[in-house]
Amino acid sequence: MSSRYGVERAELERLVAEWGEPAYRAEQVWHALYDQVIPLEDATALPRALRDRLADALPSALAPITEAAAADGLTRKWLWAAGDDRAQVETVLMRSERRASVCISSQAGCAMGCTFCATGQAGFDRHLDAGEIVEQVVRAGHVSPQRVSNVVYMGMGEPLANYEPVWASVERLHHDLGISARRITISTVGVVPGMLRLAEEALPVTLAVSLHAPDDALRDQLVPLNRRYPLDEVLDAATAVAGAHGRRVTFEYAGIAGVNDSRAQAAALADRLARWPGVGGPHVNLIPLNPTEGYRGHSPRHARLREFADVLRSRGVPTTIRRNRGLDIDAACGQLRARAITDRAGG
Ligand code: SAH
Ligand code: SF4
Repeated sequence: MSSRYGVERAELERLVAEWGEPAYRAEQVWHALYDQVIPLEDATALPRALRDRLADALPSALAPITEAAAADGLTRKWLWAAGDDRAQVETVLMRSERRASVCISSQAGCAMGCTFCATGQAGFDRHLDAGEIVEQVVRAGHVSPQRVSNVVYMGMGEPLANYEPVWASVERLHHDLGISARRITISTVGVVPGMLRLAEEALPVTLAVSLHAPDDALRDQLVPLNRRYPLDEVLDAATAVAGAHGRRVTFEYAGIAGVNDSRAQAAALADRLARWPGVGGPHVNLIPLNPTEGYRGHSPRHARLREFADVLRSRGVPTTIRRNRGLDIDAACGQLRARAITDRAGG
């Protein structure tokens, strides 16, 4: 049997009918899960015995291992054990006055092997199913005073390498949880076939593409997948998605001192992106590299990042430097898990 956020509505109706319950009970359960967004155990519209039976038949997919709140009081991270095999995944809630965003994982680990990424360094455990993906949003929502308004697939894993469950989760978030597709961002390292499939989907999700290098020679080293899908192909696929969804694409660039942060590299990136014909034009998010144990690089100084951003802007490419708040916390995704593993090994 499925978990509570993995079960399809028709399956739930069948289950409730098998138990000899009236049909409106399935409606009430769905209402508790997706409109009220409360734990099934708290769905007091349902008789106690039914709640117990449901909790048993449709368990939560995620059990917390650690939960951490940042000093700003607005950011929270969870490390979960997912499913019976207790695969480790993490989720981050980021709030501001205007919105509540949840950064979710699409896989336990990642097989893409980007050298500077903690998740990539740890390797691949398994894909997550749609219920495990959706429940991350719901569980973060349970502790958020505001309703979750935005979801970013920027936690662990490569969403487009786990296409069907990821897309099923997007549809569930949009249709059932009421989070508009436009406020859902899928970040990819450049899985071109997945990007082309995205372009065929009716729901206009927002795309982020992780670039990190202005040319194939350097990107081959940082992002092994680039040897299969080089920059030109990735940029063309991004054009297709932007055109199909009418949404501006964001290009992520983790600044690494002495590796990809020179003025010449900024100019090369700008030239490439200024020619990029996608709807809305390009937008670059410059992220200071988060240090990881398996990679020797470090972030450039802030002045250097500013200079890099200025070169991009002066050549017509809008650029934002991400700092301590907001999306930059995503860059730390993958690191809670790394720490838990180290603690266990050490203690
Ligand atoms: N696999 C997808 C989504 C998850 S990674 C992707 O790569 O896009 C989410 C973002 O965090 C990506 O832009 C990734 O490049 C970035 N990232 C990973 N490790 C990082 C690190 N150590 N410092 C800064 N950003 C990092
Ligand atoms: Fe995977 Fe993204 Fe990390 Fe690369 S940066 S290893 S694709 S999670």
